[in-house]
Amino acid sequence: MTPQHPARAVISRSALINNAQRVAARVAPARLAIVVKDDAYAHGLRPVVSTLSDAGFAHFGALDLETALTVRDIAADAFIFTWVFGETDDIEAALAARLDLGVSYPQILERVAAAAARLGTTARVHLKIDTGLHRAGVIADAWPTFVNRAATLQRDGSIEVVGVWTHIAEASDDADTAAIQRFERAIEQVRSAGLCPQWRHLAASAASFERTDARFDLVRVGAFVYGIAPGDGIGPEQLGLTPALTLSTTVSDVTTRARSVIARIPLGQVHGLYSDAEHHVDVAIRGQRHPVIAVGRTATDIDVGQANVTVGDDVYLFGNGAHGEASLQVWADAMDSIGEEIVIRLARPAEHIYVD
Ligand SMILES: *Cc1c(COP(=O)(O)O)cnc(C)c1O
Repeated sequence: MTPQHPARAVISRSALINNAQRVAARVAPARLAIVVKDDAYAHGLRPVVSTLSDAGFAHFGALDLETALTVRDIAADAFIFTWVFGETDDIEAALAARLDLGVSYPQILERVAAAAARLGTTARVHLKIDTGLHRAGVIADAWPTFVNRAATLQRDGSIEVVGVWTHIAEASDDADTAAIQRFERAIEQVRSAGLCPQWRHLAASAASFERTDARFDLVRVGAFVYGIAPGDGIGPEQLGLTPALTLSTTVSDVTTRARSVIARIPLGQVHGLYSDAEHHVDVAIRGQRHPVIAVGRTATDIDVGQANVTVGDDVYLFGNGAHGEASLQVWADAMDSIGEEIVIRLARPAEHIYVD
């Protein structure tokens, strides 16, 4: 840990590879696209992609264009799916990088087709239907018109519809079942328009792991590749997954207060640790768990009771448990959140260290 970093994130390459292999085997013959948005869930985009690409994984999901172009820089031949475009995004750069473009609105379809026509190339397009999440995608009423327009553009040669996709909540089985049915109807309409997309995809971590009927041709998985649990009492170990990231810091000060020893760590609200951690989470020092009692702006106090703790001791927040620390899921539950959010918040300012 260097002075500018409040914490250290140690990332296990073998955990990432093993998790990805486990998910890939589980979803086969569907293909696994590894989602690397948010700096690979704060695990570090470049090291994560090169580790997994070197291990033979060749499908990635990148959310925004900048991330997708970085992935292309590392993985020259990979399938890279990207699906959020801003007004100022350079679609021609996306086409030049041979990205697979998730298209959620008619205006984007037109922008992509126009850019492809200018470049004299054919854009690889995945059409998005909104199957109930109401976040993005074309609603069912507008779908036939959208699909017909795409079929026309495909005949003109500016686009090729290589995929149809949607996103589901994965919060309840019934809602997911309804979304899968809507997705199947949308695919029928695409086929009726004379298109035959190779990639149908809808599931993220939870549904792809649990439901054969959610896998189609491709699944987009982030959380499980990093060993982040789905919650609801299910830990990553139960799925055969290992948390890839262990977050630790160092005791910066030790004081005695009312016969208790208080250890201070240089991590606080400005680093994403909020007061809802107080009395709800424990950290591990010398293999023993001790409660977080007060979260300040830039430092946090731990009540270590009568334990022998000194400045410079390692303090483990969450990880794979090797040093006695709690799991990320315990932190997420205590802070009324989900694992992804906590790790993205707390690991971002940390120094990243990669181990085999
Ligand atoms: C983040 C995201 C995923 C991956 O979700 P996980 O639950 O982390 O597996 C898949 N698809 C889309 C559209 C996403 O935004």
